[in-house]
Amino acid sequence: MKESPWKTLLSIGAESGTVELKAKHTENGGRAFRKTITEMDEGNRLISEEGKHEDGLELLNDYAWLSLYPLYVDEEMKASVQRKILTHSYRNESAFFAWAEACFPKTDPELVMAANWICTSKNTVILTGAGMSTESQLPDFRSKTGWWREIDPVTVASPQALEDDYDLFQSFYAARLEALHHAQPHAGHKVIAEWESKRLISAVATQNVDGLHSEAGSRKVYELHGSLKEIMCHSCGTKAKEDQFINKEKCEKCGGRLRPDVILFGEMLPQKAWNASLHYLETAQLVIVIGSSLEVYPANQLAGMSNGRTVYINDDLSGGAMDFNLVLEGKAGEILKQLNELINTVS
Ligand code: NAD
Repeated sequence: MKESPWKTLLSIGAESGTVELKAKHTENGGRAFRKTITEMDEGNRLISEEGKHEDGLELLNDYAWLSLYPLYVDEEMKASVQRKILTHSYRNESAFFAWAEACFPKTDPELVMAANWICTSKNTVILTGAGMSTESQLPDFRSKTGWWREIDPVTVASPQALEDDYDLFQSFYAARLEALHHAQPHAGHKVIAEWESKRLISAVATQNVDGLHSEAGSRKVYELHGSLKEIMCHSCGTKAKEDQFINKEKCEKCGGRLRPDVILFGEMLPQKAWNASLHYLETAQLVIVIGSSLEVYPANQLAGMSNGRTVYINDDLSGGAMDFNLVLEGKAGEILKQLNELINTVS
């Protein structure tokens, strides 16, 4: 076999010149790699030449090359460099964006950054709000098509409403239960479940009461606002069946009014779910908030309790998301799918 000429695989711009990784096919059918450093004052300097590497990138290991800027990335190096970009912590944000643009030209670099954060974080917590479920055809509360455009929350979703106007209270929750019967987890819920099984995330804390995370396969789900599907007596807490609530029956034990086991305005959050969420958030290196207006206290405080990086995913940023390190605008299902495609290139 004839030896081929040296081909440039990677060219990197350093402050004082360039670093290049080259390769050639050798006579014995192997591959040889070389690293050259061209310094502005000194001219070409051959640093090393080896034949054992799979893709030659090890030759650059003594370089924080992701902190420098890409000048050329050969097609055959793209997969290896993509892997590096997604799985290694970086120090220089603008260099990171340049690498992301060079190796994922069709992808928003901020999405690549979020994928890097997910791949490099040791403890990631996901917080979801009603916007996580709109793609499952469950309306949220505050967006243009949300429940609260039609109704004032306190008039239907409070203990006072339950006590003063049970018919209104019951018909509101019966309608939400009915909507739940037609709802299925969407691709985004499944991505979150997949990330848990791959240990990319530690837990999901949700303001949703629809149970769709668990239905999609997530196991560590903390329901901060309870569950619509659990029915109980407002007076004595005895469990009841959904049918009994739909038929406006009274509690079998005490004759009290039935209600879903969700947190009504003014009620305390379930302490177990709250404490577990806090536990994860305190040590989280990354918190991803998906589809929440962050208007409901105290769940809206959770992201701020973490010292980790924070990402906000929402399809309408008119409410602002100033305090987050990274903001991704778009539909939850679509963004999660795109992030998952990126992550699947390395896992
Ligand atoms: P919210 O209605 O206040 O805010 C929803 C947010 O999600 C909005 O900012 C909206 O722009 C965004 N959004 C809507 N669709 C989206 C999508 N496809 N992708 C990305 N973002 C999207 O909801 P919240 O902050 O969760 O408010 C909390 C209250 O809503 C809680 O009390 C919760 O129990 C209740 N809630 C739950 C459900 C449910 O379980 N599915 C449904 C309605 C309301």
